[in-house]
Amino acid sequence: MLPKAGSLWLLRLLRDIQLAQFYPSILEELNVTRPEHFDFVRPEDLDGIGMGRPAQRRLAEAVKRHRSGNKPKNWVYKILGGFAPEQKETTPPSDSPSFLPEPEGGLKCLIPDGAVSRGELLGSGCFGVVHRGLWTLPSGQTVPVAIKSLRVAPKGPVGTELRDFLREVSVMMNLEHPHLLHLHGLVLGQPLQMVMELAPLGSLHARLTAPAPSPPLPVVLLCLFLQQLAGAMVYLGSRGLVHRDLATRNLLLASPCTIKVADFGLVRPLGGAPGRYVMGGPRPIPYAWCAPESLRQGAFSSASDVWMFGVTLWEMFSGGKEPWAWVPPYLILQRLEKDQARLPRPPLCSRALYALALHCWALDPADRPSFSCLEELIQEAWPPEGHCVRDVMEPGALRMEPGDPITIIEGSASSHSPSSTTWKGQNSRTLKVGSFPASAVTLADLKGSPATCPVHKGSPAWGEQHRGSTDGVRPKAKLRELPPAKSQRRNMPLQRIKGGTECTWSHPPGVPSGTKSHWGRCSFCHPEP
Ligand code: AMP
Repeated sequence: MLPKAGSLWLLRLLRDIQLAQFYPSILEELNVTRPEHFDFVRPEDLDGIGMGRPAQRRLAEAVKRHRSGNKPKNWVYKILGGFAPEQKETTPPSDSPSFLPEPEGGLKCLIPDGAVSRGELLGSGCFGVVHRGLWTLPSGQTVPVAIKSLRVAPKGPVGTELRDFLREVSVMMNLEHPHLLHLHGLVLGQPLQMVMELAPLGSLHARLTAPAPSPPLPVVLLCLFLQQLAGAMVYLGSRGLVHRDLATRNLLLASPCTIKVADFGLVRPLGGAPGRYVMGGPRPIPYAWCAPESLRQGAFSSASDVWMFGVTLWEMFSGGKEPWAWVPPYLILQRLEKDQARLPRPPLCSRALYALALHCWALDPADRPSFSCLEELIQEAWPPEGHCVRDVMEPGALRMEPGDPITIIEGSASSHSPSSTTWKGQNSRTLKVGSFPASAVTLADLKGSPATCPVHKGSPAWGEQHRGSTDGVRPKAKLRELPPAKSQRRNMPLQRIKGGTECTWSHPPGVPSGTKSHWGRCSFCHPEP
């Protein structure tokens, strides 16, 4: 095989270490055309082309030698020659790192072009389209995957999109958590493709807004998702990263009971003034999910992710409604800061969970709980579960039959006449929500006592042993209403403003302007008109 122009360095390097016989397969099967591409090659890839481990070690040393002296500051941005430094998105403050950390796991997975095949379109994002696909491993085994391809402009990828795409790869390659979407590898073909774990059930937002006959989701499942999300965010924060785009559209369902945080395109390292990332230029941000300091100063931190967690909670319990859809984007900041307005309590959300959301929406970032604190608060606000003990047929009451599992959304005891106490809950068999006589339900952890005593002794703390995957883990029922927060008492529901859902602000690439969208530009860059 004749050496290709531009890959002579590879042939020379391989000749020097007596491995020239691997030149065709490294070039064509592993698609290595630049020294940086070896960052993505795993030992298994080299096994796959028949290279023994001692030879692999020789190769690794030779590549290291070759690259010493011109080691790129950031491995991923230099993959393609076309990425010019002047395309830099922001000018981060001098005390914040301009680049994401180097990968720690050593060689990474570079997937040969021919090993993946694309199928049905799953969705499209800011800088690419996502297809269902199949990845054929060297062993012949096939793995269902999702393939995100970089959108290619007529003259090649646009700088910003390429940078964001590579940034997402760079971030995902360093992450490993049961509730963060896993990146399998990268195809360095045309177009560039990210091969990711497939979340076959799509986005949580799509599930929440699915029309009938799709049943609503059980309240306890939503709580489980919150728990999983908080766990993933504890992990992300421990890696010094902020997500900046937490929303149900970015939570994917890997199984009916498992969410995975996805879309790492806006993830940034924390590094500036205590744990903050400050945007350096006008970039689209999801207005209605953003904390006031993000809207005002473009400042993001774990605390602003916590604010977004509160909005995501609100979306979950509102059936996927759009937050602040009734307020023009440029007025959201004023409503939050000046009017102290907060999103209203959704009907499915218990007072305890709403109090938790209000805590996330504290104006001062320092007053918001951390994600690890949230894990415990969610546990404490977990809705209690019980069983129906008699037929409930009363007009207007939630229908239930003996044995139906019931989740209590609201229960307040009347010590004077327990039999007349009415509770609000969800029948887990029918998934309908409504009020019912408390005497019709026995709480699960009261072992047969009638449900007339809503306050239980504390359940065990969630604790470290529950970190990580929380699939199917059902924390013990606990009925405890958190006292309403000060801000809750002064909170005033907002008036719906007619026609306020049309966003006419600038949109990121791929999002047509003038369409209803959660995207807007921050008021920091675009003052109110
Ligand atoms: P993104 O570009 O990451 O915002 O993805 C756009 C859309 O593609 C998402 O809203 C999902 O509906 C879908 N999608 C992205 N990644 C996956 C995945 N790993 N599995 C299934 N669907 C996905």
